[in-house]
Amino acid sequence: MPHPATVIPRPAPVLLPVEGSAERFPVRRVYCVGRNYADHAIEMGHDPSREPPFFFQKNADNLLPAGHAFPYPSLSSDVHYEVECVLALKSGGANIQAADALDCIYGYAVGIDFTRRDLQGEAKKLGRPWEVGKAFEHSAPVSSIVPASRLGHPTQAKIWLEQNGKRVQDGDLNQMIWNVPETISKLSEMVALEPGDVIMTGTPSGVAATVAGDKIECEVEGVGKLSVTIGQPLK
Ligand code: MN
Repeated sequence: MPHPATVIPRPAPVLLPVEGSAERFPVRRVYCVGRNYADHAIEMGHDPSREPPFFFQKNADNLLPAGHAFPYPSLSSDVHYEVECVLALKSGGANIQAADALDCIYGYAVGIDFTRRDLQGEAKKLGRPWEVGKAFEHSAPVSSIVPASRLGHPTQAKIWLEQNGKRVQDGDLNQMIWNVPETISKLSEMVALEPGDVIMTGTPSGVAATVAGDKIECEVEGVGKLSVTIGQPLK
C-alpha cells in the first residue's frame, strides 16, 4: 500500500543495528525499570525490598547507536551513567505471563541510561515527572542487538562500566530484583507491549557523574560491549 502524503516530512524511523545482520531492529517505545538492583536502590537512599517494579520512558529517538559520542547535555552539571541490560521485543501483548515472557524477546544489548541527576532530583522533590532528567537527546547509547536465537536468554552475566579505565559499576544480571520475565510481565499489566519495544532493565550500584572528555566502556558479558566518549555540549 502506498504511504499517504504527509503535511510535514515524516519523522525518520529509529533503527538499531543487529549483530551479524544487515537488517535493522525498528524501535517503537523505550521503557526503563527504576531501582531494579538492591545495591543501587540503597545508594539512591531507598528501601531495596521487593516492592512492585516501576517504569519510566525514554523516547525512541533518544537511543544513540554505538560509534557516536554522547554530547554533554544542556541544563545539567550532574550527568550520571547507569549501565543496563537492554531487551528488544519481537512480540508483545497485555498481561503476558512470566512463563511466556521470554518468547517476546528478539534480542539483547548493553546500554547506558544517562541521567541528568540534578534535574531528576529536583523533579522527585517536587513530585514532578522524571522525563526532564531521563528522556533527553542521545541519553541512551546502546550496542548492536544480539539475537536471542544466537545468544539464548542470559540470567547470570557480569554487567560492568568503566570510567577512564576504572571499574565503577560491577554487578551481575542475577542481582535484578525483578528478573527479565517478571519485568516484561509486570510492564505488560500496565501497557500493551508490541514488537519494537525496548526495555532497559535497571542498573547495579556505582552510578556517578561523568564529564566531557570521559571515556566510558561497559559490557554485559556474553551480550556485548559499548564504548562511549563524553563530548562537549552541543552549541
Ligand atoms: Mn536506569
